[in-house]
Amino acid sequence: MNPVAIIGAGITGLTSAFYLQRNGIPVTVYDSNAHVGGVIQSLRQDGFLAEFGPNTILETSPKIGQLISDAGLQSRRLNPDPKAESRYVVRYGRPIAMPGSPLGFFTTKLFTTKAKLAVLREPFVPPRQDGKEESIAEFVLRRLGQEFLEHAIDALVAGIYAGDPYKLSVPQAFPKLAALESRYGSLIKGQILGARERKRRGEITKDRAPKFSFDEGLEVLPQTLYRQLGKAVRLNTLVTGITQANNSWMVEFHGCERQSRATHSAIVYAGTAYKLAGLKIQTQPPLNLGAFSEIRYPPVASVVLGFRREDVGHPCEGFGMLIPKVEGFKILGTIFSSSLFPNRAPAGCLALTSYVGGERYPELASLPPEKLFALTCEDLRVLLRVKGKPVFQHSVLYPKAIPQYVVGYGRFRALMSEIEEKAPGLFFAGHFRDGVSLSDSIISGCNIAGRVQAYVRALDEALESQAKKVA
Ligand SMILES: Cc1cc2nc3c(=O)[nH]c(=O)nc-3n(C[C@H](O)[C@H](O)[C@H](O)COP(=O)(O)OP(=O)(O)OC[C@H]3O[C@@H](n4cnc5c(N)ncnc54)[C@H](O)[C@@H]3O)c2cc1C
Repeated sequence: MNPVAIIGAGITGLTSAFYLQRNGIPVTVYDSNAHVGGVIQSLRQDGFLAEFGPNTILETSPKIGQLISDAGLQSRRLNPDPKAESRYVVRYGRPIAMPGSPLGFFTTKLFTTKAKLAVLREPFVPPRQDGKEESIAEFVLRRLGQEFLEHAIDALVAGIYAGDPYKLSVPQAFPKLAALESRYGSLIKGQILGARERKRRGEITKDRAPKFSFDEGLEVLPQTLYRQLGKAVRLNTLVTGITQANNSWMVEFHGCERQSRATHSAIVYAGTAYKLAGLKIQTQPPLNLGAFSEIRYPPVASVVLGFRREDVGHPCEGFGMLIPKVEGFKILGTIFSSSLFPNRAPAGCLALTSYVGGERYPELASLPPEKLFALTCEDLRVLLRVKGKPVFQHSVLYPKAIPQYVVGYGRFRALMSEIEEKAPGLFFAGHFRDGVSLSDSIISGCNIAGRVQAYVRALDEALESQAKKVA
């Protein structure tokens, strides 16, 4: 059997390769980077453990725990400090704890009485009837009003997508919200009435899902999968083209200064949408991947700063703070990293991870590190009463960070399904198709492994019976 080609050694590609190999299907994983893990990057230095890409995995499906156990990583799993539950949203220039209960909502200073009354009215707002695909901003304005959009949803959208609420699509980027409205006619009713159904289905909502990392950061997961995959992973190898042949696929790649090609039974494209657009593809009928270049990934810089405990006025106990644009700060938000996982900073110090750029201020992300540190320190000085200079500072720029599931994004998903149908043996998986979170990518990797396995086994049987007939 020719190996299955997996293009991309991010968490999607590694997960799918791991399960295919475990089930006896040979694989070759190609990645143009010198490291595995894609956007996952952890750095241990000077007693700090910095995460530049994702910080936690949300356990939204039993498949996540299963992967950790299958990879033999249960003993290295690190659960967050239970005290780090609270989340803050900035209002009036300071972080205010998000309410954790309905009573808390009615007493919080985060929203005015007008906004609280708008929430009480929400169950009586009729669902949209004309079928128009709305942005999350249009949806929230219609159901909950301006204040909720500006002071809550805008910050949430920056925290998840580094995105613009006026561009992101409700059904594409927040499908559960769209489903609550269409099924229950209201978000509030859906939350209450749907809770029992979700419990019966064993579904864990993102806000309730347990989150975790590993003793030495998230990089432990891709590194462990890499070790288990061994020589099947080819780093520093850019795939430049794919060609459909008779019951097989040819992959052209550029690695170690040489252009080469290899034959594969199937291909999983688990790379990025912008690199997909640049891939030469030869199929019958001819297909064009150029449209994928329209998928926008704004730049984001992750800035990890360490401070002496006594230099920070705020207790920084909790997950972190989200910052709405109307508050006028430059950073998008901050994770209280060493409150979540105390081993992220040495004794007596705090580690804070802030994000700069996104759709809100794309031009700021590519500032030189010294300028990024300065603007982040200035915002943290106001928000968290940080006095002294950082004792640790490090930043990483993601020039193309997170795909934006904008209004109309469904056409890209439809195109992927259409290509898979027209070119059997070519599969798409990962953050540009199945959701932008790390857990979405792990689930996507598990699911694609199942589909590819079924395809390869059926192909093998067909070829075997053909051979028997000829004999
Ligand atoms: C700054 C940042 C913070 C984030 N924070 C969180 C968080 O806190 N929680 C969370 O759940 N999610 C978070 N995410 C999202 C999450 O990390 C990603 O969605 C997920 O890791 C994507 O995994 P992936 O394997 O699909 O893609 P990627 O990690 O992008 O990997 C794709 C790989 O494919 C390779 N590749 C592409 N094309 C080719 C080619 N032609 N040839 C060879 N190789 C190729 C690339 O080099 C890359 O290594 C964050 C993302 C970023 C950028």
